[in-house]
Amino acid sequence: ALRLEAQRREVDQLLQPLRLAPRARQQVQALLQCEMERGLRQETHAQASTRMLPTYVRATPDGSERGDFLALDLGGTNFRVLLVKLRSREAGGICMVSEIYSIPPEVAQGPGSQLFDHIVECIVDFQTKQGLWGRTLPLGFTFSFPCQQKSLDQGILLNWTKGFTASGCEGKDVVELLREAVRRKNQFDLDVVAIVNDTVGTMMSCGYDDPNCEVGLIVGTGTNACYMEELRNVEAVPGAEGRMCINMEWGAFGDNGCLDEFFTHFDAQVDRVSLNPGKQRFEKLISGMYLGEIVRMVLVELVEKELLFQGRPCPALQTPGIFPTKFLSTIESDGLALRQASAVLQNLGLAASVEDALLVRKVCQVVSLRAGQLCGAALAAVAEKIRDNRGLAQLAVTVGVDGTLYKLHPHFSQHVQQTVKELAPRCTVTFLQSEDGSGKGAALVAAVACRIA
Ligand code: ADP
Repeated sequence: ALRLEAQRREVDQLLQPLRLAPRARQQVQALLQCEMERGLRQETHAQASTRMLPTYVRATPDGSERGDFLALDLGGTNFRVLLVKLRSREAGGICMVSEIYSIPPEVAQGPGSQLFDHIVECIVDFQTKQGLWGRTLPLGFTFSFPCQQKSLDQGILLNWTKGFTASGCEGKDVVELLREAVRRKNQFDLDVVAIVNDTVGTMMSCGYDDPNCEVGLIVGTGTNACYMEELRNVEAVPGAEGRMCINMEWGAFGDNGCLDEFFTHFDAQVDRVSLNPGKQRFEKLISGMYLGEIVRMVLVELVEKELLFQGRPCPALQTPGIFPTKFLSTIESDGLALRQASAVLQNLGLAASVEDALLVRKVCQVVSLRAGQLCGAALAAVAEKIRDNRGLAQLAVTVGVDGTLYKLHPHFSQHVQQTVKELAPRCTVTFLQSEDGSGKGAALVAAVACRIA
């Protein structure tokens, strides 16, 4: 019994750095608030870790948007082309048809001109299938990579992420690259109205149903958020009246060192072996691409310290990616019998006792709790900024959300919501899951642009 007690204490010590005290949650909120201000101001922009990019989206939908639109969605493994019909509620509301096209790795990583030629081929195929020849519909392009925008229909790619490396694109206007590919094809026209980040698409698609929706959140492979800022605070864009949606690029929060005290040596290991060391440090604490890896690092150390699997060596755990984030969902939704947790470990070739399964579940819980709390602390900073901007004693705001981790993990969303409640008590924050925000949202951005033009 004494030995067990000593082991328990050792485990707690090992997990301690992954637990965020209430004070730490407040600190993260305050740090992001500071980075947001710095990112918005011209003279401090270069040092801020959150880029706070203007999107030229000046209004959320009011439900009166009508018409037929094309939408493109590029940002993951699949590329989609959509036809979005915005009708009155009586006439059936929003109706969409879409087609998925794969982007083979050799195209995502080859010459940029080839990538855009491929995209144009897909659009041509879609238009043919949908009988759209002869109609040039306004097009919204969801392009989920960081872009510097000077207008709604222009976006200079700052850097590729998520496995894309197509050459000759960084530093170029992506809409122009698309138009050049269309000209090479020499047989049809595109009317590109807007380039849209996926966070913005998510906010807009939820905004169609809820006028309070002024924040967009993604927690999937990566994490990012956008919100409606007062134009007078956006120094990169002239004008003092009205609002503009800001793509925060919050995945990079902490890349300037401001979060260093919160990184554990587990996080440092995950960062070191990642495709982009030193970059997207906040994202690496929160999103689906990394949570499983953090858990794996903790398990490796528990085995080394002979606190797990009775110290038997577990070579399988040395393999990067062997513990994907969906395992956290499975293990954390497991009942008292711990059958799923045991099965997951069994499949990895790890014979687990009940105590082992319990400990693995505890590690998963600690890692996803921290992720949810960090995400919540960041959202609290955003909600408080909006409330403060408007001089309100109380703010009601809706967050449109997308991403598999947020949607499928059994507790992540509760952790986020609870933390927002705790840290932004003067804001009533509602969460609305978006369905197909990238497609619908791109069309809505185009539609709102047409409405207010
Ligand atoms: P994207 O962000 O690229 O649009 P998704 O929103 O589908 O894509 O998120 C993909 C991420 O979701 C992957 O990193 C994967 O690890 C994670 N994931 C997949 N299934 C689950 C699950 N059941 N629970 C938690 N995370 C999951």
